[in-house]
Amino acid sequence: MNSATALRIFRALAGRYPEALEPDRDRGSSFQVLISTVLSAQTTDRSVDAVAPALFSRFPTPQSLAGADIGEIEEIIHSTGFFHMKARHIIAASRILARDFGGEVPGTMEELLTLPGVGRKTANIVLAHAFHIHDGIAVDTHVKRIAGRIGFSDETDPDRIERDLTGIYPRELWGSVNTLFITHGRALCTARNPRCPECPVRRECRYFRNLKKG
Ligand code: SF4
Repeated sequence: MNSATALRIFRALAGRYPEALEPDRDRGSSFQVLISTVLSAQTTDRSVDAVAPALFSRFPTPQSLAGADIGEIEEIIHSTGFFHMKARHIIAASRILARDFGGEVPGTMEELLTLPGVGRKTANIVLAHAFHIHDGIAVDTHVKRIAGRIGFSDETDPDRIERDLTGIYPRELWGSVNTLFITHGRALCTARNPRCPECPVRRECRYFRNLKKG
């Protein structure tokens, strides 16, 4: 896809979902953003929001979470799913923050990737929400689906999809590409039964063109 088409798609989605470009809600401290993002794997923001107050009132800092009893953490975060692994990750990450980063969340991709449970998607989200840095495009399930359907990428690996998207869009749009694609994925381009006839980018979309051919 050429960059003129990519920009047309961006503008069409921005026109359809202006709310996706509004400033982000306050997500708390950088530590809370990091831990919440790790907990959000394979679940919804709502389910993380439901456990976050209990978790952060009991363990407000990396130092306190580093020394937590894993059973207690598992009990608090149980409803977010994959709670054994998530509890292990957030305790181990907190230990590293306390030991190596003076209790602060680091603000670079390279450093964030040293933390357990943190891959590029999580690191991109933490950089964007806690530091307003766009070092890449967080590729979640919505971004992945839409990039594939429209034809931005033929890859299935999120890191390669990110590489394709960042190769086509200028850096200043990376954060907005993420929020627009997520909003579009929830509103119209859903995993099952995308509502293509109502879609503002259907003329540019490979999936829609193939539907018409079929
Ligand atoms: S035309 Fe359909 S598949 Fe393509 S982006 Fe729009 S909703 Fe998704």
